[in-house]
Amino acid sequence: RGLPPRTVDGLLRPLLGALLSDPALGTSSRVADLVLRSYARGRLCLPAAGLAAVPAQLAEGLPAGTLRLGVRVTSVAADGVQTAAHGRVAARAVVLATDAQSAALLLPGLRVPDFHPVTTYFHAADRSPLDEPVLLLDADRPQGRPALSHSLVLSDLHPSYAPPGRALVATTVLGRRRFDQGGPAGYEPVLRRRLVHLYGSAAAHWEFLTVRHVPDAVPAMPPPHNFRRPVRLLAGLYVCGDHRDTSTVQGALVSGRRAAQAVLRDLRVPATATAAEAA
Ligand SMILES: Cc1cc2nc3c(=O)[nH]c(=O)nc-3n(C[C@H](O)[C@H](O)[C@H](O)COP(=O)(O)OP(=O)(O)OC[C@H]3O[C@@H](n4cnc5c(N)ncnc54)[C@H](O)[C@@H]3O)c2cc1C
Repeated sequence: RGLPPRTVDGLLRPLLGALLSDPALGTSSRVADLVLRSYARGRLCLPAAGLAAVPAQLAEGLPAGTLRLGVRVTSVAADGVQTAAHGRVAARAVVLATDAQSAALLLPGLRVPDFHPVTTYFHAADRSPLDEPVLLLDADRPQGRPALSHSLVLSDLHPSYAPPGRALVATTVLGRRRFDQGGPAGYEPVLRRRLVHLYGSAAAHWEFLTVRHVPDAVPAMPPPHNFRRPVRLLAGLYVCGDHRDTSTVQGALVSGRRAAQAVLRDLRVPATATAAEAA
């Protein structure tokens, strides 16, 4: 699109790799356009109480007793679900809102996408190295495979992420990396050297808290990506989640709304009574 190579290699490639969790950039360019647009319009955000605040806020609008948590479903049908420890639950409609792999286990035949792994390292510092909530891209990379994708001082985004007088730094490593001895934690000293390069010498003294490796973190979206996979399998049986739209929280929410609208149509609930209308 006529951008200078320095902008493409020094900003766009690492930014898109970070936003898509896809360092090889095999993602559909339409998805790339969408995430760049969302990033430019929305910036970074994180609920003060953690991401669990989003489902908690959705649940607040439901009548008391509607939700049952910690119940594992072992099979689904249009008229109810079988659970591991709570018997059968009958229903007029069933919406399967799991991750892609669990959905395909419960409904064989559903497509299982490839996934991008995400590994996140958490460090505690005595003070924020930046004092502003910015996404630090490892864009000025030495030759070869970059040690990390991006890093962020979470407590600069919201102070609740660290106790007073401390700062929490989250650093992400992407790609199917073979962690040698010691697994992801064994890789921390290599990562640390790059953090010192990016943040300065104080990073050498940060406390390494923990690392989370999620091999199937983000469903891959190679071209041509279908932004709106069907959510209605048959009357009474629906499927939603990030694997039906885009592999983001927003995609999961949009697919959930599409499934809810399909349920309401099938159950012939008047449109004026729908939550979407009320919102
Ligand atoms: C490390 C990491 C970082 C990410 N960063 C971002 C980001 O910055 N921005 C962004 O937009 N997205 C990000 N994502 C992606 C985002 O988290 C997902 O796209 C989103 O959570 C998908 O929501 P979902 O409701 O489709 O599925 P999930 O959040 O996976 O929820 C599915 C639920 O189904 C439950 N379940 C599964 N099987 C059963 C069963 N048999 N019975 C009962 N319950 C079952 C699971 O316990 C789970 O609670 C990230 C993901 C990871 C892993």
